[in-house]
Amino acid sequence: MFDKITDHIYIQPAEHYTDRPNVGLIVGEKYTLLFEAGNSAANVQQLQAALKENNLPQPDFVAVSHWHWDHSFGMHAWNVPTIAGKETNDQLLEVAQWKWDDESMDSRVKTGEDIVFCNEMIKREYPDHSLIKVVGADIVFDGSMIIDLGGVQCHLIHAKGPHSSDAVICWVPQDDFVFLGDSNGKDLYGKPWHFDIEHEEDFLDETAKIPFDDHLVKEYLALLDTLYFDRCIGGHAPLMTKQQLYATFEK
Ligand SMILES: [Zn+2]
Repeated sequence: MFDKITDHIYIQPAEHYTDRPNVGLIVGEKYTLLFEAGNSAANVQQLQAALKENNLPQPDFVAVSHWHWDHSFGMHAWNVPTIAGKETNDQLLEVAQWKWDDESMDSRVKTGEDIVFCNEMIKREYPDHSLIKVVGADIVFDGSMIIDLGGVQCHLIHAKGPHSSDAVICWVPQDDFVFLGDSNGKDLYGKPWHFDIEHEEDFLDETAKIPFDDHLVKEYLALLDTLYFDRCIGGHAPLMTKQQLYATFEK
């Protein structure tokens, strides 16, 4: 169910059971952009059905915030042009080479290429691993790009931030809104942290213990300072005001 947030923006809320992220729809007079591709073809079908049910247009473009599976593995299932930043796309082309049998998946967790949390969630989203298909984007940008949807613009900006160095945000100045993807979150791939699928309830407590990289946060906030917005949304949490976002980095 897509919720109307502003004049041009609708959001399908995240589902934590298989780590499906918040997905944004920005509707212009000429074109519609979806921000985040979903984590599987099944997720894409669910999004398409929700758009239909809500009498909203299907997207003309799909852009992703970063390479992590939950945001990007649905890309192949949209039959419209997909958009990614260069660093995201380079990583996706790398992940497209990965094998998805249990042994390969578990060995990547040992080498640190992947993490326990994603491994468990991928297995849950994909009982049949053969359905996993990872592809690069059709349109790749370096730095930033502006998409004019007609009466509303989307600024895709390589914002980096503490979560992942490839992270792209989507600023919609007409609506004073920013889609952050996971860019404002902790780096789950950096330092080791504990996740046990039998104790999912501990996820927030465990990730809270991961420290932010202060230098990355400082650079990130310096970029966000230059953007006017009232509200924003991260990849998996509810809407926030700009003040609430900044407060998450205070010690
Ligand atoms: Zn992520």
